[in-house]
Amino acid sequence: MKTYNYLIVGQGLAGTVLAYTLLKRNQSVFVIDDGYKTSASQVAAGIFNPITGMRMVKTWKADLLFPFLQNFYTDFESFLNTHFFFQKPIYRPFESIAQQNHVLGQSAEKSFSNFMNLENNDEHYKPFVFNEFGGVEIKNGGYIDVGKMLAYFRDFLVKENLFLATPFDEDKINAEGEIKDLKIRAEKIIFCRGFKDRESKFWSYLPFKAVKGEVLTGKFESTENLDFEQIINRQGWVLPLENSIYKVGSTYEWDKLDSEITEKAKSDILEKTHQLIRPHFKASKQEAGIRPATADRFPLMGLHKIYPNIGIFNGLGTKGVSIAPYFANHFADYLIENKALDKEVSIARCS
Ligand SMILES: Cc1cc2nc3c(=O)[nH]c(=O)nc-3n(C[C@H](O)[C@H](O)[C@H](O)COP(=O)(O)OP(=O)(O)OC[C@H]3O[C@@H](n4cnc5c(N)ncnc54)[C@H](O)[C@@H]3O)c2cc1C
Repeated sequence: MKTYNYLIVGQGLAGTVLAYTLLKRNQSVFVIDDGYKTSASQVAAGIFNPITGMRMVKTWKADLLFPFLQNFYTDFESFLNTHFFFQKPIYRPFESIAQQNHVLGQSAEKSFSNFMNLENNDEHYKPFVFNEFGGVEIKNGGYIDVGKMLAYFRDFLVKENLFLATPFDEDKINAEGEIKDLKIRAEKIIFCRGFKDRESKFWSYLPFKAVKGEVLTGKFESTENLDFEQIINRQGWVLPLENSIYKVGSTYEWDKLDSEITEKAKSDILEKTHQLIRPHFKASKQEAGIRPATADRFPLMGLHKIYPNIGIFNGLGTKGVSIAPYFANHFADYLIENKALDKEVSIARCS
């Protein structure tokens, strides 16, 4: 029976970022995933954006998360010897004069100027974006090709004999941390199964509030005057990939949590896109996934109060790409160095 410091269950964004963080800190790690059967990460656009919401406010802990993610993903790219981290400005056309006044007012504050380009670039966007009230470019944004990052990390793990593609059955863990049938023992087993952890006998008490989302991939029908590399965001978003292919999204559905794509979501996304970009969008692919969000919108991490060899790193919600690197490191501080967890993110808040 082989023994590891950590068994990570689920190789989505959470499991991947945590496993790499632990490996970098000289911990032995083994990872299990069921073949991305219920993966939100495979559907995610992977956008990281420091200024969000109707009121265009700095996202939670942006001053900590954004410098951290930049170092993390750059280092992870060089470790995996590939490119999946794309830094891009995000153009946010205003919805009204009131919003324009509000944003331009707050942008003078120093803490915002790190994240906003105050030069007026509206004319550049006018040929393809509906920006009658002007807009602002957000700095330090971009996207991660999450599918590629996961695939490369999985290849690395497979080569190192640190990965098993199989469904994990939590009933097969015994008190010594052994997993019957798999011939693996781990000092700690960390659950990173996304929204599926809602169904776990260990974690069903946590305040998950999963939310389904759908995205479209395709092309704009007229490519004349349409040559933009920036992400465009207002209610919906448009993400340029390669070869004039774009991803557009997304939707939020709390009631019907299945993985089916729907005509309703397609027409909602097309509507948002057509209010944002002048040329017509033609979708060639539609995908759905379930975000592991929480009722208080904070992530979930910690060790089980009755079974301290079992833990969770989850609740990344709608912003997993921004949140995962900093908080995987924070969780590793707790696991390895016994440092206290931030109360906002610790599962102790949920008891
Ligand atoms: C439409 C959509 C768009 C999104 N866009 C963005 C975005 O632009 N930016 C952003 O930051 N976030 C975005 N997100 C959110 C992002 O996807 C999540 O925050 C993140 O991917 C969650 O990662 P996770 O590892 O916790 O969960 P998951 O990605 O769901 O990973 C869990 C893994 O565990 C596996 N698993 C489950 N049960 C078992 C089992 N019993 N045994 C073995 N394996 C198991 C699953 O198959 C999966 O591979 C989006 C999500 C959706 C749905």
